[in-house]
Amino acid sequence: MARTIALAMQKGGVGKTTTALNLGVMLANRERRVLLVDLDPQANLTQGLGVDLNTVTYSVYEVLLNPEHGIGFATRSIADHLDLIPASLDLAGAELELSGRVGRELLLRKALRAVQNEYDYILFDPPPSLGLFTLNALAAAESVMAPLQLHAYALRALPQLEATIELVREINPPLRLGGIICTMADRRTNLSQQVEQQVRAQYGDLVFTTVIPFTIRLAEAPAAGVPIATFAPNSTGAKAYAELATELEERYGR
Ligand code: ADP
Ligand code: MG
Repeated sequence: MARTIALAMQKGGVGKTTTALNLGVMLANRERRVLLVDLDPQANLTQGLGVDLNTVTYSVYEVLLNPEHGIGFATRSIADHLDLIPASLDLAGAELELSGRVGRELLLRKALRAVQNEYDYILFDPPPSLGLFTLNALAAAESVMAPLQLHAYALRALPQLEATIELVREINPPLRLGGIICTMADRRTNLSQQVEQQVRAQYGDLVFTTVIPFTIRLAEAPAAGVPIATFAPNSTGAKAYAELATELEERYGR
């Protein structure tokens, strides 16, 4: 059975997509079978993996429209052990179209049922808003990994996320907050260190030991359409995501 993890946080620009992408790639490099699911109408994950949106015929939208058909028709192979269900820009209008469907929060879960044994990890990259796409990701996941950008009001976002998880447990009882990943850390600033200490004091073991630093390389990689492991293999960002993959496996691997 695959580990199903949503990189969720009800805030944009905190590192959800960067973490889903690079964690997925690093796990695939360790020969784990990985499926990435891009649920954000901005399609940053899809583009960050070098997929031209003009070539996307079937996206996660068609998967949600036809969950009984599974995911095969929309899945593309990105690299060895790494598959993607892409997003597309017309996803933005899809939410409305799906909003009248019975069981609309469970469409992704249904579509993924048949492939649970084909992957070791299924990682969801939802948008920041708590709409139908995020709900589908949370309803299909067993745990939430929350990227937390180390800045002044970072901690305020977590109670909101915990409340959302509690809400979704009504339709997906096993869902839990499985980890907090500190991102965009600037160890030269006191603020970044203070916030990290506060998060660790409050959330203890839930906080991953690995911290993702703020680096120019990580900011530049998406425009090149490649993961950090390809863009700058020896960079501190690449090392941090490789470490994060190792830690994830130690904590939650099967
Ligand atoms: P989200 O998916 O939560 O909106 P992203 O992962 O897209 O966040 O990150 C927002 C922006 O910050 C992107 O331009 C991304 O390239 C950049 N970014 C993400 N993580 C880092 C990092 N550790 N260092 C520098 N830039 C980063
Ligand atoms: Mg994103």
